[in-house]
Amino acid sequence: MTEKKIMEKIVSLARRRGFIFPACEIYGGLANAYSFGPYGTELKNNIKRLWWKMFVEDREDMVGIDGPIILHPKVWEASGHLENFNDALVDCRKCKNRFRADHLVEKETGRDMEGKLEAMSEVLEREKIKCPKCGAHDWTRVRDFNLMFKTEMNGIRGPVYLRGETAGAIFCDFKNILDSMRVKIPFGIAQIGKVFRNEIMARNFIFRLREFEQMEIEYFINPKADWEKVFDKWLKLQREFALRLGVKEKDLRHFEHPKAKLSHYSKKTVDIEYHFPFGFKELFGLAYRTDFDLAQHARVSGAELKYFDQESGQKFIPHVIEPTFGLERSVLAAILAAYSEEKVKGETRVVLSLPKDVAPVKAAILPLSKKPELINLAKEVLGDLKQSFVLEYDETQSIGKRYRRQDEIGTPYCVTIDFDSLKDKAVTVRDRDTMKQDRVKIQELKKYLREKLS
Ligand SMILES: [Zn+2]
Repeated sequence: MTEKKIMEKIVSLARRRGFIFPACEIYGGLANAYSFGPYGTELKNNIKRLWWKMFVEDREDMVGIDGPIILHPKVWEASGHLENFNDALVDCRKCKNRFRADHLVEKETGRDMEGKLEAMSEVLEREKIKCPKCGAHDWTRVRDFNLMFKTEMNGIRGPVYLRGETAGAIFCDFKNILDSMRVKIPFGIAQIGKVFRNEIMARNFIFRLREFEQMEIEYFINPKADWEKVFDKWLKLQREFALRLGVKEKDLRHFEHPKAKLSHYSKKTVDIEYHFPFGFKELFGLAYRTDFDLAQHARVSGAELKYFDQESGQKFIPHVIEPTFGLERSVLAAILAAYSEEKVKGETRVVLSLPKDVAPVKAAILPLSKKPELINLAKEVLGDLKQSFVLEYDETQSIGKRYRRQDEIGTPYCVTIDFDSLKDKAVTVRDRDTMKQDRVKIQELKKYLREKLS
């Protein structure tokens, strides 16, 4: 299968089976925005739950918050987003399309000129670089375009911004957490939520979106601590989380940002990249941000953002290690890693072998036919189990087609109620991955599924 073909198949399955739809389709769509359908939402929520459990609930050194999307505009002044969170853009005067200038220059000349606006304008002229859309050579000057989404708020003079990362709220709440919680360095604050970036080009399905969710941690350490050790520990945990999504070790790699290209605040940044069909691309990121954020927020706000260490009697601004996880990218990686096609009796079987804890539906209850006595028994079984598991009941179409549908949405178990069930009070449970079938007493079904799903 070619790589383009795999993406096409994933996009089509996602839409056909109710995972992910193009947003506002009845109005012709909106700039590569997507909506999560019923199964996509379950999958996404399961990934969030897994993350929250692994990084917040199961640890002693973490607390979670849920801050607002619109923060005080000064937050973005302090963090440098208003000044530095830019893309270099250039317009074709002929066809009016807009492009990332650094991408154009790099594609044509192989040179990385990020951030050098004047030099890029010169290269576009000198090398007679043509517009990829219409072939003309008629460029505007290259200029910076800020990625923050601007809006207004009643009672506030000047613009406010939709957050470009979740970290801002965490730093704002740092003092409140110190004052209200029993936290001791090292500790972390975690948050999951929407962020907004006014990208020139959203692309690759849900990989690059203008509106997406981040799962982010700011982990505060003593400036004298061995930050490299903490950094490596987080890197390992991020890989571990990727494996929990069903991603294979061989499809992961690390990319360390060269020193010269590091963000203004970072001492070390590593991307955990996944082998998407369109190449190795960032799935998660890890950065050592030193005391940049807290020091900046202290300076701009005038608040004292120091930690008092009772043992040493010292006060200091903690340093921070920031692991960040893209949620939609995690969903895409989980679907890609789970997708397979196999030949079964001359037919193609499409299966999403999602890990059981992230699969949207845990088991499907399927009466073999629409005979009332089978439907009644199936509804009884459903009633017994639905408090314990996310289930789906389906009585339409042939049993083969219903199995296919459940395979395609990644349901680990199909429970079939047949005519023998009326006599032996047992059902057939089919395993998604092995297609093996077990005969299980209805009385023992809850216990059976609980064991299999744990
Ligand atoms: Zn053009």
